[in-house]
Amino acid sequence: MSDTFPNASKPDLATERRPQRVRHELRFRLIEVQHVERLTAQMVRVTLGGSELEGFHSPGFDDHVKVFFPAPGQAAPPLPVLGENGLSFPEDQPRPAMRDFTPRRYDPVAGVLELDFALHDSGPASDWARQATQGQKLVIGGPRGSFILPVNFDWHLLIGDETALPAIARRLAELPANARAIVLAEIEDEAGRIVLETQTDAAIHWAHRSESNPETDPLIAALKTISLPNGDFHSWIACESSSAKRLRQMLVEDYGANPKWIRASGYWRRGAAGVHDSFDEKDKA
Ligand SMILES: Cc1cc2nc3c(=O)[nH]c(=O)nc-3n(C[C@H](O)[C@H](O)[C@H](O)COP(=O)(O)OP(=O)(O)OC[C@H]3O[C@@H](n4cnc5c(N)ncnc54)[C@H](O)[C@@H]3O)c2cc1C
Repeated sequence: MSDTFPNASKPDLATERRPQRVRHELRFRLIEVQHVERLTAQMVRVTLGGSELEGFHSPGFDDHVKVFFPAPGQAAPPLPVLGENGLSFPEDQPRPAMRDFTPRRYDPVAGVLELDFALHDSGPASDWARQATQGQKLVIGGPRGSFILPVNFDWHLLIGDETALPAIARRLAELPANARAIVLAEIEDEAGRIVLETQTDAAIHWAHRSESNPETDPLIAALKTISLPNGDFHSWIACESSSAKRLRQMLVEDYGANPKWIRASGYWRRGAAGVHDSFDEKDKA
């Protein structure tokens, strides 16, 4: 008789579906623009390189780095120092603007990191990306941690605007071939579409701001028009903060989504600078 119990050590589905947090050593790196590519009217891809990129690591599809931008007229932003009271900067230099961006792709062999910037009216990050040219310098910090989301759901819902496309593209690329995904992506118009490579069975719905009523949220309107498959699903949402909050609420209240299987973030907030809001279960009182 066997002395092992096949199911005794097998983790249950709830455990298997719990996300994993991974911490990384925080490093700040001064890196240089190698190449700039205009992906669409609203998106710019900046390829960065330099010896300080060595050891860069980003295992989570929605990881972020803090990007520090040079002040006007400054050749390079100063490197911050992390102390007991947070970040400090040399006192004789202007404090750089810092914003969050997703590492779209890191190639350790070529030693390059790609960041995709969504362009909007104005802000230090968007203004910098619009003028970015080879040889300019940036500082990045992080990723400080990664959130590894399991893939073992019946299907995956990915919702976001241009700021979320780098993370959505990474998730679609990493999901296994037998996964099923539905994507709702808000862009300005048809010309704003980008190629999303995936081996999954993915249905991609593009919601065009230019065609939507100004009173209507394009992502919420798009969600109402599609039918969602049966089965357990994980939802990942990142867009303007109030939209992300409403989408999360709709999924729970109107579509029976399990709140534990939703990761919803405001990647920016209308009228505020440099915001990162989280509406995940753990963050609620
Ligand atoms: C975890 C995380 C990952 C992110 N990854 C990316 C990424 O890979 N690519 C990317 O492009 N963005 C990404 N963002 C969003 C980006 O950090 C914000 O859009 C940021 O506010 C841009 O900074 P800014 O200096 O251009 O504008 P800010 O100075 O922050 O804001 C100036 C004004 O512009 C508005 N604004 C900010 N962003 C937008 C927008 N997208 N559309 C319209 N109005 C806007 C603000 O409401 C404010 O009124 C991410 C955010 C987070 C939290």
